[in-house]
Amino acid sequence: KAKRNGRGKFAFFDAAEDAGVCSARRLESELRRALDEKEFRVVYQPIVSGASGEVAACEALVRWQHPELGVISPAEFIPLAERNGLIVGIGDWVLEQACRDALRMPTSVKVSVNLSRVQISDRNFVRRVAETLARTGLAPERLELEITETAIIDNERNALRVLEELTQLGVSVALDDFGVGQSAFSCLRELPISRIKIDRSFIDDLATDPKARSIFVAMATMARSLGMKTTAEGIETEQQRIIAALAGCDHLQGYLLGRPEEIDSLSFDTPALAANGKMAG
Ligand code: C2E
Ligand code: MG
Ligand code: MG
Ligand code: MG
Repeated sequence: KAKRNGRGKFAFFDAAEDAGVCSARRLESELRRALDEKEFRVVYQPIVSGASGEVAACEALVRWQHPELGVISPAEFIPLAERNGLIVGIGDWVLEQACRDALRMPTSVKVSVNLSRVQISDRNFVRRVAETLARTGLAPERLELEITETAIIDNERNALRVLEELTQLGVSVALDDFGVGQSAFSCLRELPISRIKIDRSFIDDLATDPKARSIFVAMATMARSLGMKTTAEGIETEQQRIIAALAGCDHLQGYLLGRPEEIDSLSFDTPALAANGKMAG
C-alpha cells in the first residue's frame, strides 16, 4: 500500500517492477519518452591533478529530469535501460552531448564517459564512437571511456576487440570502480587499459583503516609499474586527498574537489591548492 501511494521515485520504480510485465512496459515507454522529449541531461564532475590541483578531466554523469518525479539518479534507471536495451540510445546521446560540451572546455581538459556492458556488445559501437568524434570535431585524445571490470568479464573476447579498436581511434579506456569486481588482474594483463579508477570504497576508509590503505597503495603501485595512470574516486576529506596524492595517484575525484555540475557552472580556475604547490616549488 505504501508503495502504491508513495510519491518517491524509489516507490515508483519498485511498485512498477513488482507489478510485472505491464509496468515494465510502462517504464520502457517512460524511458523512451524521456529520450524523445530530451529529459536527460549530463552533469560534469571535475577530476583534478594530484600534483597541481588543476582540472585535468571531467566525468560526464547522466541525470533524468522526470517531469513529476524530479531528478532520477543513473543508479536507478541505467539497470532498467540495460534490460530493455534503451541504454544504447541513451549512451549514444550522452556521448554526443559530452563531446559537444568538451569543445566548450579548455583543450587541456579531457571528458570521460561511462559505458555499459550492453553498449560494448553492440556490433556498431566503435563505429558510432568514431562517427560522433568526426561529427562533433572533438579530438579523440580528449575522450576517455570508462568501463567496469564486471562489464568486461561478461564477454572478454569482445571487450578485447572493442578496447583495441577504441585505442586505435586514439580514445583511451579507464577501468572504473577498480578493486570491487570479480577479477581485475586478467583485465590488466590482457586489455589496453590506460587508467584505473580505484573504487570509492577503498578511499572511504583510507584515513581510518590501515588495511584499506595498504591495499590502496598496492593498487596504485601496481598500476604505475604496469604503466597505467590512476584516479582515486570519492575523495571527500583533505586527509584522503593527501594520502591518495602521496600514494602517487595522478588524478583525484570527489566531493572535496568538486561536485557534478551543469557545464555552465563548471569552473576551471585552479583553487588555492595549486597556488600553494607553485609557491612551494
Ligand atoms: P561512477 O562511474 O563510478 O561515477 C561516480 C559516482 O560517484 C557518481 O554518481 C558521482 O556523483 C559519485 N561521486 C563522486 N564523488 C563522490 C564523493 O566524493 N562521494 C560520494 N559519496 N559519491 C561521489 P552518479 O552520478 O550517481 O552515478 C552513479 C553511477 O551511474 C556511475 O558510477 C556510473 O556507473 C553510472 N552512470 C552515470 N552516468 C552514466 C552514463 O552516462 N552511462 C552509463 N552507462 N552509466 C552511467
Ligand atoms: Mg565512472
Ligand atoms: Mg567509478
Ligand atoms: Mg561507482
